[in-house]
Amino acid sequence: MTDERHRRAVVTGGAGFVGSHLCERLLDDGWHVLAVDNLVSGAEGNVAHLLGRPGFAFLRRDVCAPNALTGLPGGPFCLVFHLACPASPADYLRLPLETLETGSSGTRNALELAARDGARMVLASTSEVYGDPQVHPQPEDYWGNVNPVGPRSVYDEAKRYAEALVTAHRQVRGTDTAIVRIFNSYGPRMRAGDGRAVPTFIRQALAGEPLTVAGDGSQTRSLCYVDDTVAGILALAGSDLPGPVNIGGEEETTVLDIARRIVKLTGSPSPVVFVERPGDDPARRRPDTRLAREELGWKPRVGWQEGLERTIAWFARRAAA
Ligand code: NAD
Repeated sequence: MTDERHRRAVVTGGAGFVGSHLCERLLDDGWHVLAVDNLVSGAEGNVAHLLGRPGFAFLRRDVCAPNALTGLPGGPFCLVFHLACPASPADYLRLPLETLETGSSGTRNALELAARDGARMVLASTSEVYGDPQVHPQPEDYWGNVNPVGPRSVYDEAKRYAEALVTAHRQVRGTDTAIVRIFNSYGPRMRAGDGRAVPTFIRQALAGEPLTVAGDGSQTRSLCYVDDTVAGILALAGSDLPGPVNIGGEEETTVLDIARRIVKLTGSPSPVVFVERPGDDPARRRPDTRLAREELGWKPRVGWQEGLERTIAWFARRAAA
């Protein structure tokens, strides 16, 4: 990726779900990693197993504060991953202003750090920039269908603004940037109470509670196991593509089917019940991954059954601890 002296990376949001897996994989690949996180939706426990490893450091800090990313220990850096952002509906509805700030001030601070150190900056964007899509599957050149004042708008528009900011810095200041649009990643270290379908259903199934499917459950998602998500982020970081590049699973599944699979794999007696569907919930979601396949040589490798089994096993261990 770059010469040995400079294998130093910053991961904002490094104590979150995806960020902690990214930190771990970078360390395994021989990188020095500084995780910066204010723990609003992450947990130090997500990186506790990394704290003793040579080359890893954790800094508790709000990335949106003025000069939040100047004078960081362990630099100069050659990769800056900007993942910090409340990402689950439960979190961004609880933290609407903070969510917008991570897209604006947080992204600007990450870009400033990258410009100063001559680093490549990778923005974690989202399939939510496509909103409730009218094109299916979604290619990167689809502009999306987002309600700018709807219940999800703080998240969707924060990411859309962040993409525009990254693109402008690249054009005006020549900063080396990349945008990855992540689709529904899942795996160990998700929070049971974060409102996303997979951890919610697993928690409910393991507790013997009814699985609460929104609407009639016919809305679709394309799940991607977190190891594959991280592999895609790293493939993009190691390329010179500016993106945006979609990274996500290719098997489209209804939410009802996800619930049924989890009931089956856990052997739970839980029934499935139907609850009110949240506003602006996208009806269909599947990435067009041709760009990632052709330009990055990336494809998802972990099938849904293996991924769900690993995730269920992690939640079961947590519940038993
Ligand atoms: P997460 O909530 O587990 O992780 C986000 C992390 O950012 C948390 O640790 C949180 O404490 C931290 N954070 C939030 N605001 C911060 C701030 N101001 N300063 C410092 N740290 C801050 O969510 P995740 O699922 O791991 O998502 C990581 C990134 O990937 C997010 O940017 C998200 O938008 C993006 N993404 C994730 C998915 C997915 O399926 N998980 C899908 C699309 C995009």
